[in-house]
Amino acid sequence: VGKSKAIKASKVQTRFKDVAGLQESKAEVMEFVDILQNPERYTKLGAKIPKGALLVGPPGCGKTLLAKATAGESKAPFYSISGSDFIEMFVGVGPARVRDLFAQARANAPCLIFIDEIDAVGRARGKGGFNGGNDERENTLNQLLIELDGFSPSSGECIVVLAGTNRADVLDPALLRPGRFDRQIVVDKPDITGRAEIFRLDADSESWSQKMAALTPGFSGAEIANVCNEAALIAARRSESVVTAECFDAAIDRVIAGIEKKDLTID
Ligand code: ATP
Repeated sequence: VGKSKAIKASKVQTRFKDVAGLQESKAEVMEFVDILQNPERYTKLGAKIPKGALLVGPPGCGKTLLAKATAGESKAPFYSISGSDFIEMFVGVGPARVRDLFAQARANAPCLIFIDEIDAVGRARGKGGFNGGNDERENTLNQLLIELDGFSPSSGECIVVLAGTNRADVLDPALLRPGRFDRQIVVDKPDITGRAEIFRLDADSESWSQKMAALTPGFSGAEIANVCNEAALIAARRSESVVTAECFDAAIDRVIAGIEKKDLTID
C-alpha cells in the first residue's frame, strides 16, 4: 500500500487586499477570520460555530485565493489539498489521507483547511462519476463526513473547512447537511469593475485599468493574471524597458486565442 503523503500546513501571507473585487464573498468569509482569531468568544456564548463553507464558482475566479486570504488574515495555519489528491490507485489511501489531514489540523487548531475540487471526492454516491461507482472514492467521502462531524469547535478544536467547487449541484447531499457544508459562498467571474480592480493590482493607473477591463469581457481573474504575465513576457522578448500598451494588446490577443482553443477542444 502506498505510503500516504504527509500534508503540511503553510503560513500564508495573502491578505484580503490581494483579492480584487468579490466584496460580498470577502464579507462572508470575514466571519471565519473572526472565529479563527477568537473561537472562545463564540463558544462562551454557547454559539454553534459553523464548520466552514463551500466556495462555489467557475475556475480561476479566486476560490483558492480567498481561502488563502482568510487564513492569512487570521494568521491561522493553512492546509490546502485538492479533492483529487485523496483519490489514489491504492485501496485505503484516500480515507487514510483524510484521517491524517484532520489529525494534523486538530493538533494545530485553530487552523483552516481548504479542499479544492471537492467534487472529485464529494460527488453523490451511487451515481458513478469517478471511475463509474468507485468504492475507494465512496470510502474517502464517508471518512470526510466522519471527520467533519468529529471535531467540535466548542471543545477548543477550531478548524474551519472551506471547499472549492464549480459544481455544487453534483455534490452528495450528505455533504451539504446542517453542521457540514451548509453555507455556500459564490465566487463568480468579475464584472467590469472587478476586472479593473484585478488589473489595478498590477498597475498604477486607474484609467488604464478601466480601459483594460473594457477590453476583456468574460475573462476570469486567472485569465487577467495571465494577460499581465504574457504582456511582461512579450515586453521582455521585445527588449522593452517597460510593458507598453502594445504588449498588452498582443497579450490579450494571445490569451483570447488560448481560450478559443480550449473551448474548441471541449467541443
Ligand atoms: P480553480 O477552480 O481552478 O481552482 P480558483 O477559483 O481557485 O480556480 P484561484 O486559484 O484562486 O482560482 O485563482 C487563480 C489566480 O488568478 C490567482 O492566483 C490570482 O493570480 C488570479 N485571480 C483570480 N481571481 C482573482 C481576484 N479576485 N483578485 C486577484 N487575483 C485573482
